[in-house]
Amino acid sequence: KYSTAAAIEEPITPSVKVNYTQLLINGNFVDSASGKTFPTLDPRTGDVIAHISEGDAEDINRAVSAARKAFDEGPWPKMTAYERSRILLRFADLIEKHNDEIAALETWDNGKPYEQAANIEIPMVTRLFRYYAGWADKIHGLTIPADGPYHVQTLHEPIGVAGQIIPWNFPLLMYAWKVGPALACGNSVVLKTAEQTPLSALYVTKLLHEAGLPPGVLNVISGFGPTAGAALASHMDVDKIAFTGSTQTGKVILELAAKSNLKPVTLELGGKSPFIVFDDADVDKAVELAHFALFFNQGQCCCAGSRTFVHERVYDEFVEKAKARAVKRVVGDPFRGGIEQGPQIDSEQFNKILKYIRAGVDGGASLEAGGERFGDKGFYIEPTVFSNVKDDMLIAKDEIFGPVQSILKFKDLDEVIRRANNSRYGLAAGVFTNNLDIANHVTRALRAGSVWINCFDVFDAAIPFGGYKMSGIGREKGIYSLNNYLQVKAVVTPLTNPAW
Ligand code: NAD
Repeated sequence: KYSTAAAIEEPITPSVKVNYTQLLINGNFVDSASGKTFPTLDPRTGDVIAHISEGDAEDINRAVSAARKAFDEGPWPKMTAYERSRILLRFADLIEKHNDEIAALETWDNGKPYEQAANIEIPMVTRLFRYYAGWADKIHGLTIPADGPYHVQTLHEPIGVAGQIIPWNFPLLMYAWKVGPALACGNSVVLKTAEQTPLSALYVTKLLHEAGLPPGVLNVISGFGPTAGAALASHMDVDKIAFTGSTQTGKVILELAAKSNLKPVTLELGGKSPFIVFDDADVDKAVELAHFALFFNQGQCCCAGSRTFVHERVYDEFVEKAKARAVKRVVGDPFRGGIEQGPQIDSEQFNKILKYIRAGVDGGASLEAGGERFGDKGFYIEPTVFSNVKDDMLIAKDEIFGPVQSILKFKDLDEVIRRANNSRYGLAAGVFTNNLDIANHVTRALRAGSVWINCFDVFDAAIPFGGYKMSGIGREKGIYSLNNYLQVKAVVTPLTNPAW
């Protein structure tokens, strides 16, 4: 049984203050048009951290006109690419300088371990802005040999006003994946943050203006999906929409885009990623990596390795060790050092995960570890492990988005490939083996946007990320993300000899 000592101690007071709670439109912090606010909560306790201005359709209109003006008239797309690049580099320097305050805000609002935010995520945000700053002045078209006497070239132009809607699981990293490439390409942006985690985006966007971003180029609206989010996705003056979140909402976004102005859509949605352990594997290492693949970020990762397939020859040993590892997982106040797991984001996710755990038990899976809430306050859940999970069980099919590991048994290669692919999702996959032939074969057979061989969750800025099937449309990060934010213009000129 887990020790609840750490969780029930008095929560540590964060060392940061919430300075910005208003909407950021046209370079200024302003109240929402309705004057309404909503509370953002501390997942450790459910207490209110701050009251945040609640944007809705009217605020989206204000933000879109600011972004439109900044794009059509303003200096941003007309600046040299080098100047834009320098602003993004200065922004990265400022994020780096304020790394620990930003990490504290992120932990307070989201519940993720502070050490993870401060040492991994916020530095990844910095790195990502430097990466895209590097691209800003390297975006160019082609010259194309066509039939006939023509000079043909393509111009790669910014797409215009980009609408972006992000989730709560990696608030600032998702901000970076969206804002970085959009700004590098010369677009202006209206970004709607998730209602659970509005704080870090407001903080850093203030820094971005200090770095020299002209007003109106990036507008940040806090608010809810069906109001602010839907208004953004269906706006007639928004030229592109990018979304990360649930598959269900992704379908709504696509529909809103189609019903309004047919703006192009990129979607980064849910997953039910397989993590496959072959029988030649070092079981201890496989257990540790499978544990990380599922439990990282409280299990709140779209690409979580949430179907752990283990070869029958090593299955029993793997289950024993996976259980022991989960019981050892250090759960508690995410501001405390050495904490591996904090609370889930909110009561809705907390209740949903506990419901899935009950469905696992009722469906006949064997509960090896956990299964209950952790402590008696906030949204903590015990690291939970199920064995004897079958493909048709709810816990093997649905995205749980929590600390619940499902371990399935397989016999041979073709069988595990078929079962791994038997999902409506196709975001990521993990393969654990020392056999190069197996690794190569399985990699090519899996229908997933990322395959990690003997590693997991490697999120370098240069590596593309996105889904097959119902896990999404398009790719983010790397060179691939630039295409999401560019139009291609074909320019044709006749070639005439002046002497003729
Ligand atoms: P969600 O899809 O409802 O929310 C994501 C974002 O979309 C938020 O900013 C939200 O305000 C906005 N949104 C919601 N409804 C909208 C609408 N009708 N129009 C426009 N925007 C809208 O996700 P959630 O409710 O926060 O979480 C539910 C589930 O989504 C989770 O359990 C998990 O399975 C999945 N999820 C996936 C990811 C991911 O990275 N792929 C991230 C968060 C959640």
